[in-house]
Amino acid sequence: MGDSSVVHNHVNGQELDLEDGISAREMINQGNGLTYNDFIILPGYIDFPPDQVELTCQLTKKITLKAPLVSSPMDTVTESDMAIAMATRAEAFENDVFNLKEKHGFCGIPITEHGKLGDKLVGIVTSRDIDFLDDKKCGDVKLEDIMTKLEDLVTAQSGVTLSEANHILQKSKKGKLPIVDAQGRLIALMARTDLKKSRSYPIASKDDNKQLIVGAAIGTREDDKARLALLVQAGVDVVVLDSAQGNSIYQIDMIKFIKSNYPSLQVIAGNVTPSVDEKNGPIVINLRFHTVVTKKQAKNLIEAGADGIRVGMGSGSICITQEVMAVGRPQATAVYKVSEYARHFGVPVIADGGIQSIGHIIKALSLGASTVMMGSLLAGTSEAPGEYFFSDGVRLKKYRGMGSIEAMDRKDAMGSAMDRYFHNEEDKLKVAQGVAGCIVDKGSVLRFVPYLQCGIKHGCQDIGAKCLTRLWEMMYSGSLRFELRSHSAQLEGNVHSLFSYEKRLF
Ligand code: IMP
Repeated sequence: MGDSSVVHNHVNGQELDLEDGISAREMINQGNGLTYNDFIILPGYIDFPPDQVELTCQLTKKITLKAPLVSSPMDTVTESDMAIAMATRAEAFENDVFNLKEKHGFCGIPITEHGKLGDKLVGIVTSRDIDFLDDKKCGDVKLEDIMTKLEDLVTAQSGVTLSEANHILQKSKKGKLPIVDAQGRLIALMARTDLKKSRSYPIASKDDNKQLIVGAAIGTREDDKARLALLVQAGVDVVVLDSAQGNSIYQIDMIKFIKSNYPSLQVIAGNVTPSVDEKNGPIVINLRFHTVVTKKQAKNLIEAGADGIRVGMGSGSICITQEVMAVGRPQATAVYKVSEYARHFGVPVIADGGIQSIGHIIKALSLGASTVMMGSLLAGTSEAPGEYFFSDGVRLKKYRGMGSIEAMDRKDAMGSAMDRYFHNEEDKLKVAQGVAGCIVDKGSVLRFVPYLQCGIKHGCQDIGAKCLTRLWEMMYSGSLRFELRSHSAQLEGNVHSLFSYEKRLF
């Protein structure tokens, strides 16, 4: 039925003008570059509760995420803990039974002839087999005496599909399903908890094989092609391209190479900075700060075959690119301009940098971004790399720009990766583009990310958009209305007139 104010559209035979605010296009095309704080979105008509808002979105042309949130792969934001927490949104990853025993105590251990995966399966020991054993006697008990023997086990043959395996587990009411090959050798173990997990955590971002989506990055040099081949072999879903300037011939050639050799691999283009997983070396690569902010930059990358584009240049909280290089663009304008261009080619945009609050996330999405990338917002969480420390009684963690001297001077695997990516072999004098600082403890992303998701849903409800696709339809059709905010409007929109206050967010 729509907005009820339509009933009052005529007064004394005269039609009243309901036109209010301006469209995103009008707002952005006024000329001045805008930041998220420079504007506000006018509320819409609500006829649904916030929990009905659907946040599914595209990270790249082919990769769908259940929520529009991505962590910055910076060395003080994303290593494996953060990557896993973000990919699963607070769930443990798929059950690897061999590690589980070591980490979490007894669970369900398949017993093979020589104790290895790939050996002949002879039985399985689960907590049910040992629950009633006297602790003192445990040392004397042989596994073969307590294990459930092969003849009593339900197994599945290799090649079984995930849904078939799920069905067998459900039907047999067993906790574990060993998967064996034709010779009876153990090749995998599926657990009921995995099944429950994918039911209880439907929001985890997984690929067609129900594995968490994995991204990695490569450079644009010849030897990166070998690295790419290995990544593809290891099952990578998306690669991020790394070079000094997103709009460069090297990157464009590399996109073309990937697209002709691995047509189904998703490529996010732009510029990148490396970051390192402490255990696995320099594998997570972040777009560098000269990312795409104009339509022309986007055009070249899209023509070369990019499946996703990261937008932002100089808007990051730790970034001094605009101050040092005199180039960049205010983020709201950059996001709108590139998104509006890229949508004609079905290429999703990641709004990267400058996100300080849920409101900023909603604004980035309202200007056409498909996802947002967050550094400072997720730094300081327990999943972010680094130890907490206290300063003046406040619990803090380090957060630094990848282009800060401190990050560039790292003398480990990360440092050499940075040298390579920043081409520092040639550059004798480093020019910093970022600062190093610290950030307040935010607790776990397991609580923080659900808070962000919930907040985005409330924002979409206020706007009157039940899903992100609807939000973009409203924005591009002009029915979503915006207004610029004067300096005093911004002050008014923040907490004011209080002697003191506590800002608890959730
Ligand atoms: P934030 O979310 O505002 O903290 O911004 C994070 C983003 O800033 C990252 O995703 C990178 O795109 C960008 N970035 C990371 N390190 C630097 C730097 O040293 N200089 C400029 N930009 C950076």
